[in-house]
Amino acid sequence: MRNVIILGSGCAGNTAAIYTARAGLNPLVIIGHEPGGQLSLTTEVENFPGFPDGINGPDLVMNMQKQAERFGAEYIYGSVGEADLSQRPFRLNIDGEWQECRTLIIASGASARWLGLPNEQKLIGHGVSSCATCDGAFYRDRKVMVIGGGDSAMEEATFLTRFGREVTLVHRREEFRASKIMLDRARANPKVKFLLNTVVDDVYDVSRNLVTGVKLRDLKSGRAWDQEVDGFFLAIGHVPNTKPFVGQIDLDPDGYILTKGGARTNITGVFHAGDVQDRVYRQAITAAGAGCMAAIEAERFLEAEGH
Ligand code: NAP
Repeated sequence: MRNVIILGSGCAGNTAAIYTARAGLNPLVIIGHEPGGQLSLTTEVENFPGFPDGINGPDLVMNMQKQAERFGAEYIYGSVGEADLSQRPFRLNIDGEWQECRTLIIASGASARWLGLPNEQKLIGHGVSSCATCDGAFYRDRKVMVIGGGDSAMEEATFLTRFGREVTLVHRREEFRASKIMLDRARANPKVKFLLNTVVDDVYDVSRNLVTGVKLRDLKSGRAWDQEVDGFFLAIGHVPNTKPFVGQIDLDPDGYILTKGGARTNITGVFHAGDVQDRVYRQAITAAGAGCMAAIEAERFLEAEGH
């Protein structure tokens, strides 16, 4: 029986682990299917306070894990397949083995959607990115491309014009899911060029370990062509990692956990932290803050219950 199980090893999970471990609660952290979370997919992190020269994303999360382990947090590889939150202790099936806990902190994050191009995964962190806020500054005076037709794509395209020489927004349809105000803002920006009814068939160049261009296809004419780009940004949505909790925890229509204030979910003793609930800010520092909140709430809950 664990006092606390934390799902996820990104900024939110690691920060919850540091706090609960320091409080003497011996948390168990389930690393999940993306060890280190989304930061492990980035290169340099320049906006996490405390690192004036920036820090490598994977190093930052690894440092957090080491810090939590120093205070007794235990990390195990695995993902939750099944969960029973109908009664306490809560029960979680982790790769076939059931674990029990008094409190649960869900920090399982949201995973960026990818296009599934042959070379896409190989170039993540080398020109392929799912986060303009994280990586945009590396593309000063370069040509970048954004894929998507929602608010994120408009926001990222507009944001990238601060750095990039030219931003091409590629969308598979003519109609946009984006709100009018965000779309108008992107359209009004002379640096943003729109390519509609267009899809990407691949991204190059794995042999140079660097993005140099993409293969595009016009869906109406069928014409295919190569275009040079230095940065390739996906903004085709995220998927929150809440599958084992469907039907147990209150989720919004897209699967994000609905907060009941602070870090609370609708189930007493189950707390949320980070991108699994936050679809707005989605930053390393906000996830870390949310992990801290969840830890403090779990600690107070256990204390009130006499543990
Ligand atoms: P979204 O609204 O779901 O839009 C995803 C976009 O990606 C759609 O245009 C979709 O095309 C496209 N897409 C999905 N799969 C694709 C594929 N395989 N190939 C090509 N294109 C693909 O996601 P989002 O933009 O991340 O927004 C998510 C939520 O956050 C929304 O509620 C949004 O309003 C909100 N948000 C708000 C703000 C803001 O207000 N500042 C900023 C960002 C996000 P189709 O349209 O053809 O399906």
